[in-house]
Amino acid sequence: MSSGMRAINSNMRHLYCNDPPTTRLPHPVYEVPSVPPAMLTRLVRWWQHYRASALRIQESTWQAIEASLALTHHLDAASRLRLRALALAFLNSKQIHGAHDFEITDTMRLSIALQACLPVLNLGLDWYDDWVGIVVYQGDFLIPRQITDDAGVVHEYLEPALGEAWEGGPVLLAWQPEQDRHDGVNVVLHEFAHKLDMRDGVADGIPPLPRKIGRKRWQLAFQRAFENFRARLDSDDEALAMDPYAAEHPAEFFAVAVETFFGSPDWLFGDYPDVYELLREFLGQDTLSGRIRNVPMSSTYRPRP
Ligand SMILES: [Zn+2]
Repeated sequence: MSSGMRAINSNMRHLYCNDPPTTRLPHPVYEVPSVPPAMLTRLVRWWQHYRASALRIQESTWQAIEASLALTHHLDAASRLRLRALALAFLNSKQIHGAHDFEITDTMRLSIALQACLPVLNLGLDWYDDWVGIVVYQGDFLIPRQITDDAGVVHEYLEPALGEAWEGGPVLLAWQPEQDRHDGVNVVLHEFAHKLDMRDGVADGIPPLPRKIGRKRWQLAFQRAFENFRARLDSDDEALAMDPYAAEHPAEFFAVAVETFFGSPDWLFGDYPDVYELLREFLGQDTLSGRIRNVPMSSTYRPRP
């Protein structure tokens, strides 16, 4: 664990803890040690959904959070309700703590959960089942880093960060008031996109893919878009709607592309249609639906110079 993690205030209250339900799990389940894993999984899910359904969130609260996020316009009413249910199940399966006495409000928890669940709305919460903790900082924070130079000397320094996701470990997030957020930057979507990417143990911009997509097709399209984006950045192209941080590494390009897929789908579709199409297929969501398509759908990759 890094020194930053030791600063976590583990005494933060859990705002979503409810009274225990009056219904009990069938008694034999506790006594029979050889319960098949699949049955246990179903019981855990039942428990999480029971707890989630017991939570009562005002409709006006949901609407206010969704309006502040402006990321769910493409969802119909049924999908929006499904996302809310997923967010509540997410909150029941994760622990959200504030770092350095930072108090996490109900609104913040719901906001983080909605954003975290948006990419997995049609993939399922299983994609996040290999870790538990989310640590929220008030504004950006410093992460201790080490680099070794060519002479073998180790240099230690602190790197300012808005978020970090650890493979199999927690997600660290900087919470910023709405007025302080940068246009087109969504830290929560970004870090949870890393979680999808790292699900196969490697942060390389290639999440575990269904056979119908195929790793080669993904790799080719994302690599070409990544290189094109870096070239455009070098030439000071002012028409870039993606965060320049995408040029750092293919894994960052993927995470920022997910942000853009939800935040500026028109731009992503127009400038990197293959990336848009792959994300649409992978995530099972068409973020352009309900919007005017300014660019005809094409399977031909036509990056701008
Ligand atoms: Zn990143």
